[in-house]
Amino acid sequence: MEEYPKTMQEFQDSFTTEDGCREYLLRLRWPEGFRCPRYGNSQAWQTGRMLFRCTECDLETSLTAGTLFQDTRKPLRLWFQAMWYVTNQKQGVNALGLQRLLGLGSYRTAWAWLHKLRRAMVRPGRDRLPGTVEVDETFIGGPRPGKRGRGAEGKGRCWSSWRRRRRARGSVVSACGR
Ligand SMILES: [Zn+2]
Repeated sequence: MEEYPKTMQEFQDSFTTEDGCREYLLRLRWPEGFRCPRYGNSQAWQTGRMLFRCTECDLETSLTAGTLFQDTRKPLRLWFQAMWYVTNQKQGVNALGLQRLLGLGSYRTAWAWLHKLRRAMVRPGRDRLPGTVEVDETFIGGPRPGKRGRGAEGKGRCWSSWRRRRRARGSVVSACGR
């Protein structure tokens, strides 16, 4: 796992473009390349900005599913900047500061983001992003309080493709692992 940047300069070099951020997430999620969560197939079609469809079982996997950025309409770049801000501000952070930094239109959005980021950072001893970002159980895929509804939707999608497959091939397959 590559290091998360230590300086603002390194950060800017890596994450000023949307592609840079997406590449980073890709490497976090699939360090050895795409793996279908269901059977581990390594081939996929990219069917959207963040979507990959397994060539074997047709399961569609979102790069951002189960992460802070799931369903976001804002650029990843902004989220990465927000994470940088939250983890590197010595003087403490607040929604107004975040709003200004990112040029967010609404204070409400900034407040909601801050809240989300803080919830994702509840693990003690984590004062920098690397520790939290490197494992997708923490920051990136972190605890998702209040997202149970979406998780359930995800399961619903898996379930329906499982049924489709079963109908199509007449074989029993294991339930979708996320
Ligand atoms: Zn698959």
